[in-house]
Amino acid sequence: MLERISIELTNACQKGCSFCYNQSRPDGGTTWQVGSLVPFIQDCAANGIRAVSFGGGEPLQFAAIFDLLRDLNGKIFRSLTTNGLLLDEAMVDRLHAARPDKIHISIHFPQSSPEVERVQRQVHQLEAAGIRSGVNLLVARSNLQAASEAAARLRDSGIGNDRIVYLPMRGQDTPTPDEMGEVAGSKKFQSMSCLMGCASSPRFCSIGWDRSVAWCSYTRARQTLDELTYAGLLKAIDGLGLIYCGEENAERARSA
Ligand code: SF4
Repeated sequence: MLERISIELTNACQKGCSFCYNQSRPDGGTTWQVGSLVPFIQDCAANGIRAVSFGGGEPLQFAAIFDLLRDLNGKIFRSLTTNGLLLDEAMVDRLHAARPDKIHISIHFPQSSPEVERVQRQVHQLEAAGIRSGVNLLVARSNLQAASEAAARLRDSGIGNDRIVYLPMRGQDTPTPDEMGEVAGSKKFQSMSCLMGCASSPRFCSIGWDRSVAWCSYTRARQTLDELTYAGLLKAIDGLGLIYCGEENAERARSA
């Protein structure tokens, strides 16, 4: 039974990380409009889905994000994940008015002190504005020391593991679960449900900026969402498998 959905609002993102699973880029676009998204998400909520998370691309580059959050206020738990680049004081005020239930800010480059400092400051700024906030910390195997140091800095500043999601790099450069645990300070931590091995969760599915549906955001096994209803979502996901996101690299290693 689906309980949570994520919706990539756009594949526009001014950060344009080379490893982005969504191949987001500064001049990216979207196929979504608020007028059709709101009734779709309301129908999902009416059928038992309890939470929607908005991502991208960069959800703050989706011009109608504030209308979307406002129109769904009180109808479903609404969170978003942002790179934080547009999160200045005016943006915090606008978000506060739209009342999201939670905002997470991503650290993609833990070796970058300016990025870690900025995200740390912004998380506390959101907290001061009364918005639940946290960090998505990307952990690459080649960068464990920097990730450990960034995580320790966050925890020392009062952002504990209950507010940090430790995300393993996918596709390649993937850390082991033990390495993830060390980065998290050898304490209880939150990560992806597939940390221990590739598998879908029956409680979650991902909907792309191009309206393709999948069991996770990273797999190439996707099917188009033709009908914007909960029933249409179930139809699109029915029988859909999962192609392991590291398969291309595993194949390359096998044939080397
Ligand atoms: S394809 Fe598998 S391992 Fe990769 S993100 Fe999806 S569920 Fe996790």
